[in-house]
Amino acid sequence: MIYLDNAASMKIHPLAAEEMIKVETEIWSNPSSLHSLGYAAKRKLDAAREKIAAYVGCDINQIYFTSGASEGNSWVLESLSQYSAAKGLRRIITTPYEHPSVSNKLKQLSLQGFEIDEVKITPSGSIDFKDLIKKVNSDVAFVCIMGVNNEVGGINNQYRIKEVICDIPLFSDLTQWVPHFLFDNTPAEIFTCSAHKFGGPRGVGFVYCKNKEYLSPLITGGKQEFYLRGGTENLSGICAMAVALEKRAEYRSNSKNNSCLELYRAMQKIDEIKFNTDSVIAQYSNIINFYVDGVSGEELVSLLNYKGIYCSSSSACSSGENKPSRALLAMGLSEEIAKNSIRFSVDTLTKDEIDVVVSALKSAIRFIREC
Ligand code: PMP
Repeated sequence: MIYLDNAASMKIHPLAAEEMIKVETEIWSNPSSLHSLGYAAKRKLDAAREKIAAYVGCDINQIYFTSGASEGNSWVLESLSQYSAAKGLRRIITTPYEHPSVSNKLKQLSLQGFEIDEVKITPSGSIDFKDLIKKVNSDVAFVCIMGVNNEVGGINNQYRIKEVICDIPLFSDLTQWVPHFLFDNTPAEIFTCSAHKFGGPRGVGFVYCKNKEYLSPLITGGKQEFYLRGGTENLSGICAMAVALEKRAEYRSNSKNNSCLELYRAMQKIDEIKFNTDSVIAQYSNIINFYVDGVSGEELVSLLNYKGIYCSSSSACSSGENKPSRALLAMGLSEEIAKNSIRFSVDTLTKDEIDVVVSALKSAIRFIREC
């Protein structure tokens, strides 16, 4: 099997999996319980929060655990909209290619009277800064721009965005950013992450929020997550996420892995392949988005699957809907290209694996052309 779908879910790091089992089997108690095993669970929870806060470079009370980025995005948008409406601000600047957990929440907010103003996307997959500059003025409630796009890998420079919007709050979905760039003084006031994109388990993530005032309670209940998200914590998932983040950080600082770029270069030798993303995206976001003229993306994905190569025809969250990718349409590509395009999202590959992918692509294209 060659797995090229890491942007959908990355394989769990063995030490994160080990941590999950250890916590589940040895410290199964409720972190709120007032006995020794309860205290042990609370200590594990605190240690995980401290570790994550250290990687983010923030205080422990700025990290809120969630069930993943979809929950985080929905919670943050609901909260920020309430916070802004109380100040009489109802215009939100965003992009046309946010993840559905953001775009669908924004649709809901537009029905409640918020104005959703989308910044243009350039053909290279990032936001158009000239357009952002034009849109910024004093009636903006907040700016919601993702770090790295999950479909095309377009990178949105957080520091530059902040320079343009100054003290308007920036909320950024950093789900696809974190696996590649980690944190490094990220200037967003609020951001969301998901563990299964960086080697942790599915169903756990966190929100960073600089200022508690921005957040309103998601689940009213107990005192968990500083009274903002009641409910017994997913302790094994949270501890495993902390381990995964540590391992990802080590990997990012030690590894010279350029597998995605090497695969990109090898694919450039196949004449029929047309790229929607460039080598910079392949190098930094580990995504290659491409198509073959007249060949349906879903057919290509299924032929590659047959050869043991797993990838996506669009993002996992919209696959099966047979809708053209919003990200590719936003970049100015036609509906046909958007429907035919597929995404490789790469972690580590050997030279032999790259050769296997290239020859599988060639034979799949030949097969489709001959049918
Ligand atoms: N945002 C982005 C950019 C994503 O890629 C994803 C996962 N596809 C999500 C949010 C949702 O994450 P989760 O699976 O943790 O809900």
